[in-house]
Amino acid sequence: MTSFHHRHSYATRFPRLAFPCAPTPVTAPQWLAFNHVLADELAWPADLRDSDAGLALFSGNQLPSWVKPHALAYAGHQFAQFVPQLGDGRAVLLGEVAQGEDWVDVQLKGSGRTPFSRGGDGRAALGPVLREYLVSEAMHGLGVPTTRALAAVVTGETVQRETALPGAILTRVAASHLRVGTAQYVLHLNQLELLQQFMDYVIERHYPSLIGFSKPYLKLLEHVQNRQAKLIAQWMSLGFIHGVMNTDNMTLSGETIDYGPCAFMEAYDPTTSFSFIDKRGRYAYHNQPAIGLWNMARFAETLLPLLGDEAASVPQATAVLEDFQTIYEKHYWQFMCTKIGLPATPSAQQLVQRYLNLMHAHQVDFTLAFRVLADGDASRAKILFNDQEDWRLWYHDWQQVVSPATVAQLRHVNPAYIPRNHLVARAITEAEQTGDLTYFNRLQQILAEPFTERPQWQEELQPASPEQQVTQTFCGT
Ligand code: AMP
Ligand code: MG
Repeated sequence: MTSFHHRHSYATRFPRLAFPCAPTPVTAPQWLAFNHVLADELAWPADLRDSDAGLALFSGNQLPSWVKPHALAYAGHQFAQFVPQLGDGRAVLLGEVAQGEDWVDVQLKGSGRTPFSRGGDGRAALGPVLREYLVSEAMHGLGVPTTRALAAVVTGETVQRETALPGAILTRVAASHLRVGTAQYVLHLNQLELLQQFMDYVIERHYPSLIGFSKPYLKLLEHVQNRQAKLIAQWMSLGFIHGVMNTDNMTLSGETIDYGPCAFMEAYDPTTSFSFIDKRGRYAYHNQPAIGLWNMARFAETLLPLLGDEAASVPQATAVLEDFQTIYEKHYWQFMCTKIGLPATPSAQQLVQRYLNLMHAHQVDFTLAFRVLADGDASRAKILFNDQEDWRLWYHDWQQVVSPATVAQLRHVNPAYIPRNHLVARAITEAEQTGDLTYFNRLQQILAEPFTERPQWQEELQPASPEQQVTQTFCGT
């Protein structure tokens, strides 16, 4: 294992974008979770793990000398409305830490007021912290690029939301916290040199293959777009609905960030949307690719001043954006056809589409419908689709073209377990009401290996019963 390394490259280089800001101490912190596996990857110091010193750090009460906390500035379009200043209103970046060859941000979220808090208290409630911990780690287990959770603690204080709730702090690890909204903030400072320095930093940090290009900014747009198009295609292939794809919640690194009202679709319906605040379904399942493009257009706007005069820059950027849909679809069909064990040919795509239509018509769980294809026999699939005639026809057609060896591999492709809303809700409710973390820990364990089906975890395979169903999720801020 490598040794622990830290730095503050962003805060040092961009004093106009990162503001020194200490966490506000809390009265009685206690552990919720510590991620030893991730800590090992970071070579995290032994004395700052699940120890008193670790608790003091992850609650923001006492920081080791290498930590230099900063609140980062960003702007963003929230539900298509531009807000020139958002920023870390309840989070501080502790520093950057080496993870193998890479550098990652370590951030406290829920650590108190900052210059960007506006009317907010700078705190987070227990529920959203447990939710982000579970879902971000589940996404990692599913192989999706995502921010991670290193630690979670309760503060011993309450936060006032609709009711008084226990307060908590999440320690988040991310490739970086640079967002489309960060680029928008820099653009609005209206300083060409700073804009260029910022984009050069993004290239150094996330797209080093572009270093040395004389005009890397158009390429940067292409590369960010590629990663985002692929990321969203992967979300779609898992039934994941982010729920609040504002430009401040879209990273430049291509990681999933900000698990607010996110949720996984159960019965397949492309119009599914869970978020309480998303009344019009702007961020519904089937709109995610279009919103990805919309956000990339906002990112492209931040690059225009670096692409030469307007006559040249706008057509160049537009040409890149015009490829979004094609790139997205290529990834989408690759992911989806892999789920039925076939290369992404037009006939395989048709077979996928027919299967989705069946799920839609018979209200079948998206995750299970793909999982049972790995069984090697049709017994579970038959029950799932009620042995309907149209399903039998589809299954027959599929069996004609797929090889048994590939079918056996599908259990490594199609997860058995996802963080189903009602399971996450149960973990949160038990923790909130009695402080009991048993179910939270159990879910964590299951979701760490989402492809491994175990008989003792039968219940977690199943979609919610009508009584268990969670139809709305909340931002939890
Ligand atoms: P989010 O909805 O979590 O993406 O946050 C949107 C913006 O609101 C960001 O600038 C956050 O920092 C800010 N924010 C969210 N919750 C709070 C809070 N409790 N106190 C202060 N700022 C907050
Ligand atoms: Mg956010």
